[in-house]
Amino acid sequence: MAEHRHFSAQYQELENGIIEITFSGDLGCDQCAVEFDKFSVGADRSIIKKAKEDLQKVNLLINANGLGNLKDVVVSPLMQSVDRTKAYENRTAVYGAPPLIKTLVDTIVALTRHDEVRFFSTREEALVWLNAEPRASL
Ligand SMILES: [Zn+2]
Repeated sequence: MAEHRHFSAQYQELENGIIEITFSGDLGCDQCAVEFDKFSVGADRSIIKKAKEDLQKVNLLINANGLGNLKDVVVSPLMQSVDRTKAYENRTAVYGAPPLIKTLVDTIVALTRHDEVRFFSTREEALVWLNAEPRASL
C-alpha cells in the first residue's frame, strides 16, 4: 500500500466568478479531517464574500486530480461545508475525481440536495460547462 499523504488544499479566484479549489492528499486520518475542516471554513467564508460582492452566485471548479483515499471522517465536515455555501453557489464542476470520490460526492450531493454538481474528465470541459450560462443572481 502507498504511504498516507496528509490532506492539503488551495483556493484561487479565476475570472468570471469562478473559484478553483485544488484538493490533494488522502483525507484518511484525524489530522487530515482537522486540516479539511480548517480549510473549508476559510474557503467558505471567501466564497460567501465573493458572491455578496458580485451579487451573483459563484461557480466552483474542483480539482480532484491529487486526491487519494477518502474516508468516512470527511463526510460530516464536507456536508457542513456544502450546507454553509450552497445558497451562494451556482454550478460546481468536479474534474479528475477517482470513482471512489465520485461515489462519496454523489452521496453528499444527494443528502444536501445540492443539484448543480457535475463530474468531468478534464478541466477544459469543466470550464465550458461553468461558463455556459450566466451566473444566477444572489
Ligand atoms: Zn492524514
